[in-house]
Amino acid sequence: PQRRPTGLDELIRDTVEMLQADPQRRGVHLSLELQPVQAQVDPDQLRQVLINLLRNAFEAVGPEGRTRVSLSVGAGNNNALLSVWDSAGAIPEAHLGRIFEPFFTTRSGGTGLGLATAYSIVRAHEGNLHVTSTPKTGTEFTVELPLGVAEE
Ligand code: ADP
Ligand code: MG
Repeated sequence: PQRRPTGLDELIRDTVEMLQADPQRRGVHLSLELQPVQAQVDPDQLRQVLINLLRNAFEAVGPEGRTRVSLSVGAGNNNALLSVWDSAGAIPEAHLGRIFEPFFTTRSGGTGLGLATAYSIVRAHEGNLHVTSTPKTGTEFTVELPLGVAEE
């Protein structure tokens, strides 16, 4: 993998622009909270993680399309923290333990590979991917990644 210090804020901006014409994106109110932060990642792989999480958030939107999606990134104490949040409501408790399994899907036509792929990419970067989901707070996927090292 081609890991190098990568500006996650720029990567997010580019990816969001790429998804601008996504049909699923329609009717979603997307807000970005981007602090400049560098992580040690393969940019193409990280873009794939972002796309998978964002598409899921867009797809979580009901047909009435009132869902908000928020994307944020910044530096934590020892890592870069990226979060994709949507207001669409909760993932049932019985599903929460299975959503990272390959081929687990509740969507007709879903592959069930989006989160499994995202998870294995993040783990391969010595990072972590978590989910919290409740009816009250919505669904948030959090990605922790090693900070980018300054080049000498
Ligand atoms: P797919 O999108 O093809 O179903 P994923 O691996 O991307 O496969 O997601 C697996 C399952 O996790 C989805 O079918 C859905 O049940 C659940 N899921 C993932 N992201 C969200 C989300 N943001 N809101 C609600 N459910 C989600
Ligand atoms: Mg998906």
